[in-house]
Amino acid sequence: MNGLLEGKNIVVMGVANERSIAWAIAQALASQGARLIFTYENERVEERVKRLSGTIEGSLTLQCNVSSDEEIETLAARLKEEVGVVHGLAHCIAFAKAEELDGMYVNTSRAGFALAHDVSVYSLTAVAQRLYPLMTEGGSVVTLTYLGAERTLQNYNVMGVAKAALEASVRYLASDLGPSGIRVNAISAGPIRTLAAKGIAGFNTILKHVEEKAPLRRNTEAADVGDAALFLMSPWARGVTGEIIHVDNGYNIVG
Ligand code: NAD
Repeated sequence: MNGLLEGKNIVVMGVANERSIAWAIAQALASQGARLIFTYENERVEERVKRLSGTIEGSLTLQCNVSSDEEIETLAARLKEEVGVVHGLAHCIAFAKAEELDGMYVNTSRAGFALAHDVSVYSLTAVAQRLYPLMTEGGSVVTLTYLGAERTLQNYNVMGVAKAALEASVRYLASDLGPSGIRVNAISAGPIRTLAAKGIAGFNTILKHVEEKAPLRRNTEAADVGDAALFLMSPWARGVTGEIIHVDNGYNIVG
């Protein structure tokens, strides 16, 4: 099977390095002929992202710190100029201060709560708001969430609360944008060792536990998420919107 996404322009936000889930998604989308537009947070990751995106033919790489409305507006303007029509958005971005991801949730600071929600939740709405007018041929928006949205997981803390708000945002956005032929879904990925995951205290213990308890007795690989994102971006998912799809080897069903 080839060329499922031929002629589709898809924005991939959140590649930091080759371990990023966004990078696995990008590879899956590129394998089916999508034209990719990568965005990176700032100069700190620029070189690394450009080195990776440079290996994907025909891709474009633009800066966009999602905390800045101005940068999101500039991104939308550049996309209009460069590709005209956008067909997909993979939003793979989250952030919380390391001190909020250790110990008790009850100690979350006001500033830490606001920052985690601004970057990890509001950014999806802020970007969708500026990009959906470019999705004139319909579109698919995919974001990434985690089981900590549904259950209390040790040390996940404010990020769990943020992911719950992100999942609710998926439903509201799906409801708003559905009449324009735009689908909005989230993938709830099992734990994967990435840069962001390093910030969560005790992450290795979580990986070991999941591998022992998940029905499929393995940990999630970024490529598992990449292929699920490919499905959601493709016409095969034409009837799917407002969903949270678990790609976690079944861990979420275990009591
Ligand atoms: P990662 O560190 O590779 O990716 C996180 C990305 O967010 C980075 O590219 C970073 O530059 C970007 N980012 C942070 N603040 C930003 C800002 N202000 N503007 C623009 N970009 C910003 O880690 P990852 O694990 O691939 O994370 C991707 C997504 O997957 C996150 O939403 C994360 O919560 C989610 N997720 C991860 C796991 C896991 O176990 N790794 C599990 C479920 C969900």
